[in-house]
Amino acid sequence: MMNMTDIKSMTIDELKVLMTELGDKPFRAKQIYSWLHEHLVTSYDEMTNLPKSLREKLSAYPITALEAVDVQISKIDGTRKYLFRLSDGNVIESVLMRYKHGNSVCISSQVGCRMGCRFCASTIGGWTRNLLPSEMLDQIYRIQVLTGERVSNVVVMGTGEPLDNYENLLRFIHILTEEGGIHISQRNLTVSTCGLVPKIYELAEEKLQMTLAISLHAPNDARRQELMPIAKKYTMDELLTACRTYFEKTGRRITFEYSLVAGVNDSDEDARELSERIRGINCHVNLIPVNPIKERNFQRSTREAVQNFKIKLEKCGINGTIRREMGSDIDGACGQLRKSYIEKTESEK
Ligand code: SAH
Repeated sequence: MMNMTDIKSMTIDELKVLMTELGDKPFRAKQIYSWLHEHLVTSYDEMTNLPKSLREKLSAYPITALEAVDVQISKIDGTRKYLFRLSDGNVIESVLMRYKHGNSVCISSQVGCRMGCRFCASTIGGWTRNLLPSEMLDQIYRIQVLTGERVSNVVVMGTGEPLDNYENLLRFIHILTEEGGIHISQRNLTVSTCGLVPKIYELAEEKLQMTLAISLHAPNDARRQELMPIAKKYTMDELLTACRTYFEKTGRRITFEYSLVAGVNDSDEDARELSERIRGINCHVNLIPVNPIKERNFQRSTREAVQNFKIKLEKCGINGTIRREMGSDIDGACGQLRKSYIEKTESEK
């Protein structure tokens, strides 16, 4: 739920209403919005074009600003992993990846996660709470300020299930992509879901121009259920039908994510079965060898197995890309930095 004093989660229209309530002029809304979402300031003192009286009234509306408590920088590719502390003391992680085409930030959408995917570190400690729109936005804002480099792409692929925090996600997307703020194009935004089918239909109705990524990871229901508890709730047929509808409503090609686990989902037969299932959907498959986590016994597929899988898919008429692994020298991926930080601070208590 939105906090009524969380000014960084407010749209311009809501800020206009707030200005009226505070007895001020509606045009101030645009100025405040620009300070928060374009200039990325963290205090009212910096909003020099606002009258002092208004700044004083606004002090009842604290500005969400995350505090970086750790950063790890990859020596291989310059990827940076940030650990941010929230105002209630919880910590979350965000990742900056540098590509030739620009900087991409991977953000978290929840503190922890309750989806329970077997190979994922983010879900081991369970779910603590949803992130506010301001807390999702500020991961990007802080990284842009700390590096002094423009962020051009955003992926919601960090800790948490974004469609399990649906209202806040929509508000986040609105503010992220609206004019007058950081103004990231919807086309440069990807939201990844483990497959909450009813929410995919709701999202389709928004007709956003972002990319929807679906974590598939298996060629059939039985195998998917072994890896992802959500597969017991919604069948692959139901999920893939939702994906077709998403494409029809938005015209946006679906991305399927497929993490390859040695001996579990990486055989030729798996590739063949997968391509049968998704044939006819306007889609693209992202292949990535699973990142082993110490709590589970999953082994990553070999380089050859990944390559073979891609070739087999292509023979069956499905496009696939092997995702370049970024920052493999810094605390793995997918919630492992946050987890090791929590374990460390727990053991120091
Ligand atoms: N909850 C969302 C987004 C967060 S996870 C979702 O499930 O899509 C982002 C992606 O990383 C998902 O495809 C997820 O399945 C994958 N992932 C999680 N842990 C992983 C690991 N250890 N190795 C490889 N991919 C992993």
